[in-house]
Amino acid sequence: MVTLAETIDGNVLAAMALAKFGVQHMFGVVGIPVTSLANRAVSGGIRFLAFHNEQSAGYAASAYGYLTGRPGVLLTVSGPGCVHGLAGLSNAMANAWPMVLISGSCDQKDCGRGDFQELDQIQAVKPFSKFSVKAKDISEIPKCIAQVLDWAVSGRPGGCYLDLPTDVLHQKVSESVAENLIIEAEKCRYREEIVSLPVSKIEEAASLLRHAERPLIVCGKGAAYARAEDALKKLVESTGIPFLPTPMGKGLLPDTHELAATAARSLAIGKCDVALVVGARLNWLLHFGEPPKWSKDVKFILVDISKEEIDLRKPCVGLVGDAKQILESINKEIKDDPFCLGNSHPWVEAITNKAKENVSKMEAQLAKDVVPFNFMTPMRIIRDSILALGSPAPVVVSEGANTMDVGRSVLVQTEPRTRLDAGTWGTMGVGLGYCIAAAVACPERLVVAVEGDSGFGFSAIEVETLVRYQLPVVVIVFNNGGVYGGDRRNPEEINGPHKDDPAPTSFVPEAKYHVVMQAFGGKGYVVGTPEELKSALSEAFSARKPAVVNVIIDPYAGAERERRASFFLFILEATR
Ligand code: ADP
Repeated sequence: MVTLAETIDGNVLAAMALAKFGVQHMFGVVGIPVTSLANRAVSGGIRFLAFHNEQSAGYAASAYGYLTGRPGVLLTVSGPGCVHGLAGLSNAMANAWPMVLISGSCDQKDCGRGDFQELDQIQAVKPFSKFSVKAKDISEIPKCIAQVLDWAVSGRPGGCYLDLPTDVLHQKVSESVAENLIIEAEKCRYREEIVSLPVSKIEEAASLLRHAERPLIVCGKGAAYARAEDALKKLVESTGIPFLPTPMGKGLLPDTHELAATAARSLAIGKCDVALVVGARLNWLLHFGEPPKWSKDVKFILVDISKEEIDLRKPCVGLVGDAKQILESINKEIKDDPFCLGNSHPWVEAITNKAKENVSKMEAQLAKDVVPFNFMTPMRIIRDSILALGSPAPVVVSEGANTMDVGRSVLVQTEPRTRLDAGTWGTMGVGLGYCIAAAVACPERLVVAVEGDSGFGFSAIEVETLVRYQLPVVVIVFNNGGVYGGDRRNPEEINGPHKDDPAPTSFVPEAKYHVVMQAFGGKGYVVGTPEELKSALSEAFSARKPAVVNVIIDPYAGAERERRASFFLFILEATR
């Protein structure tokens, strides 16, 4: 009997299966026992983005899943590598984004005896994943890879985990056995069935909208994930119903659309009588759909891929399914008996007037050139520089407390899936990972991060990753020297033996973050005036090369109680 040479080990087989099942990019940090998996993936045509820290790589994988609709894949080593990767996995779960974490793990025979980087990883990932599996033998690898990739995108998207023990990665099979295993796994791949909703449900939703006095459409990042923008545009424009995007729903329709209720948010949610909520949870971001922010009599029509979500919220009408398909069905239903509110409808007029009033108040604040910089002046300059780029609009990555809040209302989103921020979980430190994901997922777009210095600091070393892969990412750091900026404690709070330590909120003032980028050969700018900022952005945006623009902000901007109250409350009123 002729035995075929067993030349394919578990690392190679895993790489072959990943490439065969359509994975184009992977993010991660290599080391024992998965270095060869990464190298083989590259040989198989997959682009491997090697990071410094699994946490950032995991955030990248989660955002990649959102931007592409395909699972973002994170590769880590065992034990601590897997634990660092949990940050990304949990972020994917919280945001309902498809992601797969693949970790090497210790040798199965040594498990429980204190092996190198030993951890029961299947147990560790449980709270943060919708599906997890361990390949206990090399023959299971292709099937397990198919399973995690399919589970990540089926139903409500989320995080999945694959455990690859060291001994399994070192087992070998022949080339023909490897190919057969992949063919067999491919045959069992899960294909989601398209379930059409009962017509009566669509009719009920359309009828509620038709007979509402003050209807509103709320669109979230689930609608963006579903690529529902064309169907949404048709619904909004044919019915004349105002719409309100959630922070990452911004751009599904342009913020500048005449029916955008963003700048009249409190009025829109406080007074609407019927709200069609598409791909957005009625969670903290939408005040749980409850009074006092919403009227107690509001009737919700919820569109969500997740039945559990509908069951949880108990809306007046629940439509379980894909946002794009459901909006198309509602459009069809309305087309047979069309209605349109029109600009002079009292509800539309009230929303547009309030929005105009709020926008002009904000523009008056924005128009001033305040030096040393507050938040508003540089944000206006960034907004205008981004708008000047036209289409394709850049992906804007935003994080940090004040920087993200101000940015959400000032920066203008004109295209879908072009805003990434701290999201459902309020995750800070996502910035650099999201930038790298956006650069590879959307190669036609520039990526512009607008971050607080605290957010940037979580993963600042990944600027080296930007330079290494020459990604078109411009990171703008709002540098006000701390988590909220400066030392903002009242003197009576500063006591005890460590009273001379820096405040827990403060960093080294005027830190030279731009030099971090220069250290790796990227471009660094430090700016403190409108002219300097405009010139830096103009140069960095046209170069489309890695750059850090260090914007020095007054550490006490917005700090005084009265100023902060009027300034931030105004922003929050308009946008939350
Ligand atoms: P936002 O942060 O914009 O408010 P959320 O993350 O709270 O959005 O909600 C997004 C919702 O979209 C989730 O409940 C998720 O189940 C849902 N979703 C994901 N994919 C789809 C889809 N294809 N069609 C409809 N809903 C979807």
